Amino acid sequence: FTVLAIESSADDTCAAIVDSSRKIHSNVVIKQHTTHEIYGGIYPISAIGLHQRNMPYAVRRALDDAKLDIVKDIDGIAFTRGPGMPGCLSVGMNAAKSLASALQKPLVGVHHMQAHALTPLLSEWPHEPQFPFLTLLISGGHTLLLLAKSAKSFELIASTRDESIGRSFDKVSKLLQLKWTALGPGDALEKFSAEGDVSPLPIPEFPRPLRGQLDFSFAAFHSHVNLSIEKVGGYDKLDIPTKRGIARAFQTATVSHLEEKVILALEHCRDRNIIVNDIVVSGGVASNQYLRGRLRQCLLKLDAEASYRLSFPPPYLCTDNAVMIGWASMHRFLDGDVDEYGIDLRPKWSLEDL
Ligand code: ATP
Ligand code: FE
Repeated sequence: FTVLAIESSADDTCAAIVDSSRKIHSNVVIKQHTTHEIYGGIYPISAIGLHQRNMPYAVRRALDDAKLDIVKDIDGIAFTRGPGMPGCLSVGMNAAKSLASALQKPLVGVHHMQAHALTPLLSEWPHEPQFPFLTLLISGGHTLLLLAKSAKSFELIASTRDESIGRSFDKVSKLLQLKWTALGPGDALEKFSAEGDVSPLPIPEFPRPLRGQLDFSFAAFHSHVNLSIEKVGGYDKLDIPTKRGIARAFQTATVSHLEEKVILALEHCRDRNIIVNDIVVSGGVASNQYLRGRLRQCLLKLDAEASYRLSFPPPYLCTDNAVMIGWASMHRFLDGDVDEYGIDLRPKWSLEDL
């Protein structure tokens, strides 16, 4: 079964073709970062306009790269139904609905975070995670810990009380005036932290919010950076090694916060006699290599026999893409569980309500 999938929930215009044998035929991602960098964040009106301009080319390129014909070779059309920015989502949804109804192909609307969570079932095959697994979803809009019981049944264990880890990285990257990379301001912060000299930290220790509790909280991390910059006399007083010291300390503190919650979530599962062997980490922030190393070490320490298996999608499947949307739609197409052509958006949509 071959699916053409479309994703436009945030700032990337994506189209991809994937089939039920897990072959990725094409993966087109048209970025908008150069536009949004000017505004210092995703500017909805521009994002919608760019999706409208770029979507036809993304779809055409996905078919051309795959050398497939939409009438003969495509069996179903999938799109991101939510969560995300309504105006952005509607561009992808309308493209998908019109294609599907004109061509009389089945249509499936996909939950964006379910797609992030199921990506390792595609990318890690034949050693893919087994249900039930714990999934840590760390992205621009979310920070979630869930128990994945099946491809369509998720139980929420923890979420953020304020903002997402991705947004916190984005804010600190902005405070340090780092130049965005194509993968966003968070990626710029990781690269900057890793290269070159570091001065001893001019700021006090980072706070440790919600200690001992399952939920996350990230607002205190970037406000700590903000106050610390003010304390040394403002951004202009920072030299590069000091900036790097701040970036590195911020990254260390936020990853420690994640680590603590993963350990608590594993204890929470154990207390309920739920046997979890696999931990899946996905979403844009999961492309961070420092974070990957720290989580690997932490789980090894927790369980010297290494019975926990940690999986991360390759970085190009961590940030937004339509391959994950096509893959997450596959079980529904194969079950014949498809949507009406008149289906609506779900800009706010809990992963527990699929
Ligand atoms: P959501 O998936 O919650 O709807 P989104 O789709 O906008 O949000 P993703 O594309 O999954 O988010 O992830 C984007 C986020 O990941 C941005 O905040 C970006 O700065 C961050 N990010 C990307 N690469 C890295 C990295 N190497 N380190 C830290 N953060 C990163
Ligand atoms: Fe995403």
